[in-house]
Amino acid sequence: MPEPNLPRRRGLKVAARTGQEIALKNAPASATPAAALLRDSLVWDHHTCMPLRPDDTSFLPQLARHKAAGFDAVTVNVGFGDMGPEPHLRMLAALRRWLGERPDAYVLVETADDIERARATDRLAVGFDIEGANAIGDDLGLVQRYYDLGVRWMLLAYNQGNRVSGGCQEEDGGLTPLGRALIAEMERVGMQLCLSHTGHRTVRDALAVATRPVIFSHSNCAALHAHPRNIPDELIRACAATGGVVGINGVGIFLGRNDISPQTYARHVDHVVQLVGPAHASIALDYVFDIGELDEYMRTKQHTFPPGLGYELGARFMPPEEIGEIVATLQSWGYAEADLKAILGGNLMRLARTVWKPLSGRPLAEPVVG
Ligand SMILES: [Zn+2]
Repeated sequence: MPEPNLPRRRGLKVAARTGQEIALKNAPASATPAAALLRDSLVWDHHTCMPLRPDDTSFLPQLARHKAAGFDAVTVNVGFGDMGPEPHLRMLAALRRWLGERPDAYVLVETADDIERARATDRLAVGFDIEGANAIGDDLGLVQRYYDLGVRWMLLAYNQGNRVSGGCQEEDGGLTPLGRALIAEMERVGMQLCLSHTGHRTVRDALAVATRPVIFSHSNCAALHAHPRNIPDELIRACAATGGVVGINGVGIFLGRNDISPQTYARHVDHVVQLVGPAHASIALDYVFDIGELDEYMRTKQHTFPPGLGYELGARFMPPEEIGEIVATLQSWGYAEADLKAILGGNLMRLARTVWKPLSGRPLAEPVVG
């Protein structure tokens, strides 16, 4: 395995794993440099997957794993693919109720300041995301409704095309007129446009009409592992040129050959950093809490998860507890503290302050940057 590249700007040397570092790994977690950095940084997992069953809250206490692992904020998925408006709205209602009943542990995200507030009070900030525009049906008015309920990013199409966009795992007809209107409405509302899972022709169309920073919330590097879900360097550069970020996901079949080692994850982060700099990388582990539910989706939605693309392998997912090892790996490669802080959450905070807007019906209580 080749040594990873280094952040060019600083010309740092790769630090070999010394005996001292190995000894530190075996020390209490709070004593390691990685644990110290996590404690001193705002850390945000930009995509995680709880079961999509509004009537079943049995998995939700496991959100505490993110806090225990060192995260201050997490963005929870509320629906994907061919799901229409009703299941998304029901999931949002269920999650908001459960979280709202636990104000000592959780903060429902409305503004970027809420995330700082959660961190300052030792709670976990929770926002939401939607994977695919079937969530709006044909009603652009739902974008504002979802935003008001805490949805802070939405992607256009989930692997397969829909009425606004092409998907990344089939022939892509490009952005439709409704898709253009959707992007304009998302920008008006302040919802972040995500281009993960979306067909690459549509991505280029969207980049041509978007006027705000765009993200690939959870997309890995095709240069390191060929898969239709991964993105070529050209699109990483194009995303960064808008001011956006590429979040690296922890899905084994997108990182490599079902490989969820922290070193492989760190290589994808490093690839983005080498291409476009540390201001354009972020974390989105995409951890699936209920593998049984995912197996059921694989069985019943083979059009979305075709076996020929690795989904039949029993994909492995990097758990939130691995964030310390990811940080330790990047530290051992000579990453500077300021760059790691940006990757862990600073870049996403910059976008939250740039792109998000007040809820509907709220006055502009504070200046919105940009
Ligand atoms: Zn996804």
